[in-house]
Amino acid sequence: MAKLDLPGGLGHQSRVMLLSRLAVGAFVAAMIGILALAVRDVGLWTVPALLVGWFLADAASGLTHMIMDYRPCPSGRGLAQIYFYEGSRESADYVQLRDAAMARIGPLDRLTYDFKNHHPRPDALGRRSVWRQIGSTVIVGTLPVSLLLLALWAVVDLPSAVMAGGFSFLLGSAFAQYFHGTLHRDDNPRIVHVMRACRLLMTPAAHEKHHATLKQDFATNCGWSNPVINPLFRAAHRAGYLRDEGLEPHH
Ligand SMILES: [Zn+2]
Ligand SMILES: [Zn+2]
Repeated sequence: MAKLDLPGGLGHQSRVMLLSRLAVGAFVAAMIGILALAVRDVGLWTVPALLVGWFLADAASGLTHMIMDYRPCPSGRGLAQIYFYEGSRESADYVQLRDAAMARIGPLDRLTYDFKNHHPRPDALGRRSVWRQIGSTVIVGTLPVSLLLLALWAVVDLPSAVMAGGFSFLLGSAFAQYFHGTLHRDDNPRIVHVMRACRLLMTPAAHEKHHATLKQDFATNCGWSNPVINPLFRAAHRAGYLRDEGLEPHH
């Protein structure tokens, strides 16, 4: 037998990658189950349910984005130092500062920082691997929700249309960061262009409105929920729940 490298001997990055792949594998298995239950009884409600699920995934991406853009980063961890770093981001100095800062914060603050960092450097997201883009969303979000949906079905035998809505919601949610990344790169697979032509995904021009003001159009899948989220943002911003100071880390 070949010698097996145990996870304990792997670096932090490799462990995260392995965990992502295991979670994505489990999520794919759960999604096959949900799809099988959705097509068991295809009827009048199947297509509307799929569209509602796609809308809800867009809304979830938009609400998460809105909160993460404005949620303040913790100060005193070196985040402002790397956010406003003026030298090369390839330099050993920067990489050391970044790794030290990231080691001082938890996953939620890392996600918060990533959303803010995306504004001055939007193209970095498009350069990330698909594993990096969907991994953490699957681990903390769509895998637990997919298992919950299957458990609920086992208990109360949910109708096929509900499973269809759940399927498109989970699919759109899992790929939310990937879809956002496609808005910041040119070389996308053909399916992305087809889905844009069908209005199932938004266009880079439509997403540009978010980057121009950071005060609108937070949803990045198809953008259908932006007319609902925009007034919600304005009300929360006016009431002081979302403050402009939160948009950047502070020293
Ligand atoms: Zn943003
Ligand atoms: Zn963007």
